[in-house]
Amino acid sequence: MSKRIVILGAGESGTGAALLAKVKGYEVFVSDQSTIKEKYKTELLAESIEFEEGKHSTDKILNADLIIKSPGIPDKAEIIKQAKAKGIEIIDELEFGFRYLTGKVIAITGTNGKTTTTLLTYHLMKSAGFKVALAGNVGESLARKVATENHDWYVIEISSFQLDGTTYFKPTIGILLNITPDHLDRYEYKMENYINSKFKLIQNMENQQHFIYYADDAVTGAEISRRKIGTKKLPVSLRDKSTPAHFDGEQMVFNLKGQLFKISQSDTTLKGPHNLINTLSAVTAVFFAGADLDAIRSGLKTFKNAPHRLESVASIAGVEFVNDSKATNVDSVVYALGSYKQPLIWIAGGIDKGNDYNLIKEEVAAKVKTLICLGKDNEKLKSFFGPLVSDIKETQTVKELVRIALKAAKEGDVVLLSPACASFDLFKNYEDRGDQFREAVLELKRETEK
Ligand code: ADP
Repeated sequence: MSKRIVILGAGESGTGAALLAKVKGYEVFVSDQSTIKEKYKTELLAESIEFEEGKHSTDKILNADLIIKSPGIPDKAEIIKQAKAKGIEIIDELEFGFRYLTGKVIAITGTNGKTTTTLLTYHLMKSAGFKVALAGNVGESLARKVATENHDWYVIEISSFQLDGTTYFKPTIGILLNITPDHLDRYEYKMENYINSKFKLIQNMENQQHFIYYADDAVTGAEISRRKIGTKKLPVSLRDKSTPAHFDGEQMVFNLKGQLFKISQSDTTLKGPHNLINTLSAVTAVFFAGADLDAIRSGLKTFKNAPHRLESVASIAGVEFVNDSKATNVDSVVYALGSYKQPLIWIAGGIDKGNDYNLIKEEVAAKVKTLICLGKDNEKLKSFFGPLVSDIKETQTVKELVRIALKAAKEGDVVLLSPACASFDLFKNYEDRGDQFREAVLELKRETEK
């Protein structure tokens, strides 16, 4: 009799897991407590995979041999507690996909910078001619990729929630970008638990495999010196010139596999100190995967990051408009401000999640000539930055916003949408905010250049 796999949650990862389980000949049942998106339902129906939505029927779930749960479902959920009490093995889709893949894995995790680094690593691998798939948090699930096609390499973005559900997962190359407090509600408000989760990345890695990490990150650095690490360590640093991949103040310097080479950030499409970390990490990974240096150099020139992350939208009359709508907290704005030397017209505002603007006080005072508040309630921004920025304006429409910005700017200035806040007061989400901004900028450009 075939084994029964029950999948909890039918999003991208659940559906991917269902497809893989079906291909591997399991009896599959999918259960989602909410409604399942049309496109996933269509796929499940097409493969004759049984599913339910709007409920979890315990009689159909607790008879499973293996449960694959969506990373969004916490361990304290009732159905998980019951399954555990019955001794059913519970894993994540990532673990399930890994058990069937035949290629090698570059896995990327961290609190910030995952998507950028994953996309860059994938792009560099592809430009270097590898048969490579992109999977995980960005794009399609690993299980779906494994179900449909074989690849030599998989570049995977992994969240800590996904790492929690791994047992045998073992990347050939692992990247840990940073660890800062986030999602602590899932970790009993203990930083230690969150750190342990991130370090599951390397739990099974062996000594001929490579662990790339950002050594200047206080939490990661301290943790590495405390732990016994069973794999080759490749620290990346913006200040320590003895590390195999570092920034020497002018260029990125790599000393890998007996080869020394340098890359200028101006020869890449990415800006800012945070992207130095991301680029140092990605280049180190693909170099160890066997990519050719010339291919890496040309790949760095053609990379296009995901939208809303310091995305250069257009230049109007010598003024560059930048969409960094993904910056929904002050930490991200620190990096955004650090990416420009030019005078800035800074657009901020929305829903403040308890921001401490002291973090960016000096940089704002030094660089920002106009602050435009884009939110329903702008009092906190206005009172904090009032003494620091001579020109503060407010608006609630994007159309008016770009006009005010262009008027306030001189040739050579940068208009930077990097809001430090969530977007839900005026927009559906940060993507909607960024999309509307991009549209308005392009429309203004067309009008201006008529
Ligand atoms: P994630 O997928 O981890 O959310 P992204 O690549 O989407 O990461 O970047 C999200 C935001 O985090 C960006 O707007 C940027 O400001 C910031 N960021 C990117 N890379 C880093 C990094 N290495 N360290 C700290 N912050 C970063």
